[in-house]
Amino acid sequence: MPNTKAFAASDAKTPLAPFSFDRRAPGDYDVAIDIKFCGICHTDIHQARDEWGGSVYPMVPGHEIAGIVTSVGGKVTKFKPGQHVGVGCFVDSCRTCTECRKGLEQYCAVETVFTYNSKDKDGHNTYGGYSGKIVVDENYVLRIPENLPLDASAPLLCAGITLYSPLRHWGAGPGRKVAIIGLGGLGHMGVKLAHAMGAEVTVLSQSLKKLGDGKRLGADHFYATSDPETFTTLKGHFDLIVNTVPAANEWDRFVGLLATDGALVMVGVPDEPVAVNGFPLITKRRTIAGSMIGGIAETQEMLDFCGRHNIASDVEVIPMQQVNEAFERVLKGDVRYRFVIDCGTL
Ligand SMILES: [Zn+2]
Ligand SMILES: [Zn+2]
Repeated sequence: MPNTKAFAASDAKTPLAPFSFDRRAPGDYDVAIDIKFCGICHTDIHQARDEWGGSVYPMVPGHEIAGIVTSVGGKVTKFKPGQHVGVGCFVDSCRTCTECRKGLEQYCAVETVFTYNSKDKDGHNTYGGYSGKIVVDENYVLRIPENLPLDASAPLLCAGITLYSPLRHWGAGPGRKVAIIGLGGLGHMGVKLAHAMGAEVTVLSQSLKKLGDGKRLGADHFYATSDPETFTTLKGHFDLIVNTVPAANEWDRFVGLLATDGALVMVGVPDEPVAVNGFPLITKRRTIAGSMIGGIAETQEMLDFCGRHNIASDVEVIPMQQVNEAFERVLKGDVRYRFVIDCGTL
């Protein structure tokens, strides 16, 4: 069984520290991957600190994994050694429920096996990408286009697909007006992707501090939500608003920015219940919805789309030893726009 170095949380209160463990011996359908880079997602912090409950320790976080195939099982047909590959938020699902058969494995009705803090089908805890190696069934491994840099591609596996999936589902494209609330790790991917899809893109950010960045990333317009005038100017304007900010908000104000048939879609988990008035919804057939990552086929479609449009994340690459410091900086919003761990520094 391949032994691997890692960084793990031993409980909810202690900083992550060096750890080592054995990955499963690769089976017939498995792909063994050398992890080169792993992005730091806000979810990693929530789970390492047990902020959502149910965390199991030791925990090796990380679900934005980019690496290179080292070997494949005898029955693997989709991958070969040397290929650039990624692993996202889940590594298995039931494969037979209605959702799985539709390629919506992230919404598996039985059980999605998440990349860490989850149990695999043999009952073992799963460990994520803050480690040197991983073994994953070929059906849950993604191809990363060779023209994309591997470090900046890692965040596509969570942040990228988290935005791509709602943009596709709600039809972002030419002639459609899309707003992204929040210009952080998720939001900056939303701007790049919606722009590449041909939509007219607006950033709704708390202040105008990141206006220059927003325009560089592909936004056509940039408005501050701290300015009440924004909500008058943009009334009834958007076909789709994707909210990437977890903080509680006055949702009615954002519903008011939707055009007829517009949708306000949550991709972060709001801190508090989403309270809205019914009248603004029914009078314009508006929708409030949620969306979580994407299925395997759609994630591959997103990676291929990024390859064609030369899209990756804006990243700050750090050695593994700085992961605890990086967590603190993520909480302060002090990163443009995603930390990526160089797993070669383990
Ligand atoms: Zn994530
Ligand atoms: Zn299923």
